[in-house]
Amino acid sequence: MSDTLLDKNKIWQQIDDEKENMLQLWQELVNVDCGSGNKAGVDFIAQKIEAILKTLGFATTQVEFEKAGNTLVGKIGDTSKDFIVLLGHMDTVFKDGTVAERPFKIVDGKACGPGCLDMKGGIVIMLTALKVLLANNYSKHGIKVILAGDEEVAHYLSNASETILAESKGALAAFNFETGFLDQGVVTRRKGRYEFTMEAYGRGAHVGNDPQSGRSAII
Ligand SMILES: [Zn+2]
Repeated sequence: MSDTLLDKNKIWQQIDDEKENMLQLWQELVNVDCGSGNKAGVDFIAQKIEAILKTLGFATTQVEFEKAGNTLVGKIGDTSKDFIVLLGHMDTVFKDGTVAERPFKIVDGKACGPGCLDMKGGIVIMLTALKVLLANNYSKHGIKVILAGDEEVAHYLSNASETILAESKGALAAFNFETGFLDQGVVTRRKGRYEFTMEAYGRGAHVGNDPQSGRSAII
């Protein structure tokens, strides 16, 4: 089937049919302690996702880090140019033991559990979209999946950001599967973050009796 003739109604139906599988996978990904500091937990998730990508036909590699969760890269189709990048991360901000305290559950139609929102849900959506697209013989663009293992701590114990930049070179577009906003809009940019250290020097003096001898470190 040519890509321009993908039957959207059929695809929506196929996605709906995946609902139980999605919930199952979501639960499996949430019910593993994998805070950024838990390399074993993050790497376990990476292996699990890697296995799924392989069944979809992806060639996969893991960029291994000693102290941070690995970065998983999967490729399918022609990824030499004009390919699509699907981006995300596998770590969470939660400490070990959180899964035992509050495992995945659905309350009043809403799923909750550590990392449910950020961003195991996004990963499930990504993998399901790939499954359905590839089942419909999508091949218009090559696709690269890049999942970092230490995003929540800004890759400070790895060089995952360099891997992401290098693997994304030549891409036509990149879609990040992080949580969006409540209005369901497509988020096209995010604010950045920069960390630096400043040293300030002042001169101490009594603020009431002798302020003129002091120098404010802040000013
Ligand atoms: Zn996130």
